[in-house]
Amino acid sequence: LYQGGTRTIELPGGITVGGDTGHTAFISGPCSVESEGQIETVAQALQQSGIKILRAGCYKPRTSPYSFQGMAEEGLQILDRVRKKYGLGIITEVRDATHVDQVIEYSDIIQIGAKAMYDQGILRRCATIRKPVLLKRGFGTNLQEFVQAAEFILSGGNPNVMLCERGIRTFETKTRFTLDLCGVAYLKEHTNLPIFVDPSHAMGYAYGVADLTRASTAMGVDGLLIESHPNPREALSDASQQLTLEQMAQLRQSIVPVAQAV
Ligand code: PEP
Ligand code: MN
Repeated sequence: LYQGGTRTIELPGGITVGGDTGHTAFISGPCSVESEGQIETVAQALQQSGIKILRAGCYKPRTSPYSFQGMAEEGLQILDRVRKKYGLGIITEVRDATHVDQVIEYSDIIQIGAKAMYDQGILRRCATIRKPVLLKRGFGTNLQEFVQAAEFILSGGNPNVMLCERGIRTFETKTRFTLDLCGVAYLKEHTNLPIFVDPSHAMGYAYGVADLTRASTAMGVDGLLIESHPNPREALSDASQQLTLEQMAQLRQSIVPVAQAV
C-alpha cells in the first residue's frame, strides 16, 4: 500500500505534504510540555516566525523511570488551550496503548515515537482513524521493518501516514545517533509516503541541528521536526539538543532553495 503513485496529506494550517509540493513543513516546539507559560511562549515565537504546527510531548518514553515522565492529560489540556488561542496545529506523541485514545482525541497529528514504533496496539488503533500519523523510525529498526510498521496503519484503513527518520544507532558515540540520509533516499525511492526528518534527536546536540536541517531540505524532504525551547538548559528532557526560540526563528529564515552550482 505504500508503493506507487503519489500520496498527499493535509496537515493543520493548510499545509499539504507529499508529492511534488516543493516545500518543507516545519514543525517545532519543546521535547516536553512543562507548563502553560512555556507552551504559550513557544506558541508566540512560532507564530512570529511563520511556523504553523507545534510539537511537544505529554507522555514521554524516557529511558529511566526516574526521569521526568511528562505531564500526561494535563499537558494535553495545555496544548488544547494554546492551539485554540494561537490557531496552531498540534502534534504530540503516544507512549503506549493505555492513553492512545486520549492522544487521538486531543492531537491534530499523532506522533508514534521511536520506542513505540513496534507497539501493534498503537499501530492498529491509529489505523482506525483518519488523522495524520507521524511514525518515527526505531533506532534499531531497518528500513524493511519501518515500512512494515507503517503498513499496519495503512492496511487497517488510515492512508495518512508520514515517516520520520530520527537517527539510528551505529558504532559512533560522539553524536547521539546517526542520521540515516541513505535511508531517506531509499524511502523517497521506494515509498509514496511523505518523509520527515528529525535532526534534533539524531544529533543530540543543538550545534548540528541547523546543518542537518539544511541537508535534509536539500534532499527535498516533506517536513522537519525540530526541538526548540524557551530556555534549553532548564529543559526537563533533551536539554542538550533543543534550539532556543531565537535560533529556531533564525534557522527557519535561513532556509533557502539549494544553491545553484556554478
Ligand atoms: C521526541 O520526539 O521527543 C522523542 C521522544 O523522539 P524519539 O521517539 O524519536 O526518540
Ligand atoms: Mn525529545
